[in-house]
Amino acid sequence: MSSLLITNGHLVTLDEENRFIENGKVYIEGNRIVEVGDFPTENYTPDRTIDARGSLVMPGLINAHHHLYSTFARGFTPPGAPAQNFEEILSKLWWKLDCALDAEDVYYSALLALMHAARAGCTTVIDHHSSPSCRDGSLDQLEQAFREVGLSGCLAYEVSDRNQEGEGIEENERYIRKCRNNHESGDGRMSALFGMHALMTLGTRTLQRCADSAHSLNSGFHVHAAEDEIDVRVTMELYGRRVMDRFLDFGIPGPKTIFVHGVHFQSRELDLLRSTDSMLVNNPESNMNNGLGVAPILDMLKHGVMVGVGTDGMSSHLISQARAMYLHQRTCQRDPTLAFSEACEILLHNNRTICNRLFSEPRGALAPGQLADIMIPDYVPFTPLNADTFYGHVLFGLSFARVRTTIARGRVIVEDGLLPHLDEEAIRAHCAERANRIWARIT
Ligand SMILES: [Zn+2]
Repeated sequence: MSSLLITNGHLVTLDEENRFIENGKVYIEGNRIVEVGDFPTENYTPDRTIDARGSLVMPGLINAHHHLYSTFARGFTPPGAPAQNFEEILSKLWWKLDCALDAEDVYYSALLALMHAARAGCTTVIDHHSSPSCRDGSLDQLEQAFREVGLSGCLAYEVSDRNQEGEGIEENERYIRKCRNNHESGDGRMSALFGMHALMTLGTRTLQRCADSAHSLNSGFHVHAAEDEIDVRVTMELYGRRVMDRFLDFGIPGPKTIFVHGVHFQSRELDLLRSTDSMLVNNPESNMNNGLGVAPILDMLKHGVMVGVGTDGMSSHLISQARAMYLHQRTCQRDPTLAFSEACEILLHNNRTICNRLFSEPRGALAPGQLADIMIPDYVPFTPLNADTFYGHVLFGLSFARVRTTIARGRVIVEDGLLPHLDEEAIRAHCAERANRIWARIT
């Protein structure tokens, strides 16, 4: 079993004791943390020692909602008149892009995005995937990219009726079973949820099939909810129900279900989220980008909802999302006292709780027995660092710090900002070629 010792780190443990340890050490064996703190090292003979040189050493970050397939959208302008609303953003951009992807595009889009994620200190990504032209087996393409970069992932295929009724149900079923088999043979890297797009693209028959299938597999769901008013309006017009009521009709809410966005949830729907112990992941930059409004994050927290934060394909950089979240709340409520610590707690604590509901290996803290997912940013604090000041360092310092080292599942995957186990130049050149071909296919 390989072993690794980190020395001379400014440890931020984020464990139950929330310790800040100067000149601290972390000892790792295999993919688990063995010891954390200021301990004698004579008994250990690590294969490798990393000198953190006084930088922060903290748990790897967790992205609670991503779309890795969005990678090749960067800089792309859909043909025709610009999208005027959320529905047109979907139909003119995202539903054209995902249809243009072949299996190799899916693999490379994930590879590139996961490389960015690793370089931003992220070690686990919860993804929501769509590629109708290469649907079956597409989650295996994503998994391959996770394995090559070295990260952990929770995958779901986005079922909708927009191209074909019930499209993607079998891919979710297959992949959930595959993950279960992998876990039984001791491979816990990947996990799965039953993916659905949103109520606005799911008819009653499909929703019932998804519910029956996921319940028989004992799986939670990963689904967009009340992202834009149109989702609320369509659900009310067609079915006479609010979004959470309709989900409840089909038994979708629960402790392993992630609802994404929730911009237009009413107070009673927040109660339903809480009473079913469901998870809600918001993506502030994405909501801002689409001009959708402001999710009632602080109300959600007051209702006791487990709120997380994701990037929704906007980027693979997590800390910037927590920053966007608190700035968004303050701007909209014109109140400089709001949401600072809440945004950090959502990023560092709630995302961990969400993740630990979906994976069998505990992570998100520097403590013995935890998965050895660790980031070492190039960040030596020049003002006091302790429990009172840490969130200020996160939002004003770490947001802009380069990550020097990322360790995922006990393996060093980013070293001095690079991924030495991958031929980055060749991958980028290959992706540039693919992007041209993808763009040419979108008309
Ligand atoms: Zn999304």
